[in-house]
Amino acid sequence: MSDQTPALTSAGRAASEPSSAGRAASDPTSAGRVARNERIETPAPHEVATWQHRYTDALLGVFGTPKSVLVRGEGVYVWDADGTRYLDLLAGIAVNALGHAHPTLTGAIGAQLATLGHVSNFFATPTQIALAERLLALAGAPEGSRAFFTNSGTEANEAAFKIARRNRGEDGRRTRVIALEGSFHGRTMGALALTSKAAYREPFEPLPGGVEFVPAGDVAALEAAFQADGDGGRDTSTVAAVFLELVQGEGGVLPLPEGYLTRARELTSEHGALLIVDEVQTGVGRTGRWLALQDPALGGGVVPDVVTLAKGLGGGFPIGAVLTYGERVSRLLSPGQHGTTFGGNPVAAAAALATIGVIERDDLLGNATAVGEHIRSQVRAMIAEGALVTGVRGAGLLVGVQLAADVAAQVADLAQRDGFIVNAVSPSVVRLAPPLVITREQVQPFLDWLRELNVDPASRGLSLPTDDDLPTDEEPR
Ligand code: PLP
Repeated sequence: MSDQTPALTSAGRAASEPSSAGRAASDPTSAGRVARNERIETPAPHEVATWQHRYTDALLGVFGTPKSVLVRGEGVYVWDADGTRYLDLLAGIAVNALGHAHPTLTGAIGAQLATLGHVSNFFATPTQIALAERLLALAGAPEGSRAFFTNSGTEANEAAFKIARRNRGEDGRRTRVIALEGSFHGRTMGALALTSKAAYREPFEPLPGGVEFVPAGDVAALEAAFQADGDGGRDTSTVAAVFLELVQGEGGVLPLPEGYLTRARELTSEHGALLIVDEVQTGVGRTGRWLALQDPALGGGVVPDVVTLAKGLGGGFPIGAVLTYGERVSRLLSPGQHGTTFGGNPVAAAAALATIGVIERDDLLGNATAVGEHIRSQVRAMIAEGALVTGVRGAGLLVGVQLAADVAAQVADLAQRDGFIVNAVSPSVVRLAPPLVITREQVQPFLDWLRELNVDPASRGLSLPTDDDLPTDEEPR
């Protein structure tokens, strides 16, 4: 999907536009001040491949070779360093809620930065306070609830883990934390301890202890976990918290079955344990509600003890949050027991307030619901039409397309070649998490593309199992 975008420089500007380095050379008042006679070269246009090479030589290899090098975004589209345009159906993995370069967001960030860019947590800012109030109101959190700000999802879960550790009970015996198989809570040591995937965990063991995994969606297994203490006897007061995602995003866009959360709430309440819901991926409008918890099918009216947020919250500006529900939970961490330099930064808070404001003003919750349903119904119709697509699931604009075989990575590569950014979240599942501003018309070219691929996958080199025993639409769990 190439369009007529002018050739871009390494910094992603049209070649005719002066680079900021170029401006600095001719404008001694500019921030990038340089010595008068120093010659600044505007970088020549670079190709994606060259940048990929430089990336590999300069950046730690934890992400592998990048799929492309992107230089610019506008709305639901991004452009790479070769000037190729893509429909961004991933939005930085559920982050760019307003799409790219939204004027309200960039304006709010610029205005806050020009007014007050950072203060230490010895002080507070009105922006930070307003955001805390706004989030607690959107969450419908009861009297006595509080917010804590972080810079990322993993940090929000670290804080939640520490809150769980403080829920020891009077005899100090509540030390077990129950997490679900298939979970993903982040890459720092505490969040990793809560994450089930062995390949992520094992290289870094020993991890913080006391975490036990139960099969996701299995009520009996959860009940059993509450009955067992470390010695195999019966002790109903050793669980400090249950951590879960309502839709396991990284796990393959897998919703928990209806009723599971309600039972988790009953068990945690009965035994004095905390119910901690990781809404890092599902929160801030992604599922068509402010929180997935507010979706009757996903949340079942449950009031949690702690919710963690990040990703979509700042619309692309890094910020995470922990919401503690009610007085008791909000007092578990006392002064000095946790902190952060950047968390609550006023620029990040301004970004989040602007993101929330636009979601509300433009009814992006309604849009996420409507466009998400449109995508799911179109993909559902494909199941009978071809051999590749066998199911679809998710909520709002978090969509998992189940494929007949482990070809999701190939499908994502083909999509990219044809101008669509999607993600192979598991070997047989393609994830879509587009900006919440996306319209039906904008997403339609991808749906048409997928329909064609579904009808004739072999024409694009996809080989699928030929027996009758193909996986079918999985029951949500
Ligand atoms: N929790 C969930 C449910 C996530 O999906 C992610 C990231 O994918 C995280 C936590 C970690 O967030 P971050 O990458 O911002 O640390």
